[in-house]
Amino acid sequence: MVCKPKAMLRVQVAKLNMARGQQKIQSQQKNAKKQAENKKKQGHDQKAAAKAALVYTCAVCRTQMPDPKTFKQHFESKHPKSPLPPELVDVEA
Ligand SMILES: [Zn+2]
Repeated sequence: MVCKPKAMLRVQVAKLNMARGQQKIQSQQKNAKKQAENKKKQGHDQKAAAKAALVYTCAVCRTQMPDPKTFKQHFESKHPKSPLPPELVDVEA
């Protein structure tokens, strides 16, 4: 009867190791998921950043401007004789 608790202990240790192994796998899966999400997010952010950083291009002089306000101000001061691009008509400069 002395060895029985030992055997049980071994089983418990084995279970613990299994649980740890599963936790490891789970955390690896979590990390992979996180990384995938970060990648997605970054891709999204980069797109948004690119959109925000650029990107109004003056059709007349090809100058790129970061926002419609700047674009409209640019257009009105540099090309007052050119028709305002339709996307700037509603912009308040
Ligand atoms: Zn221009």
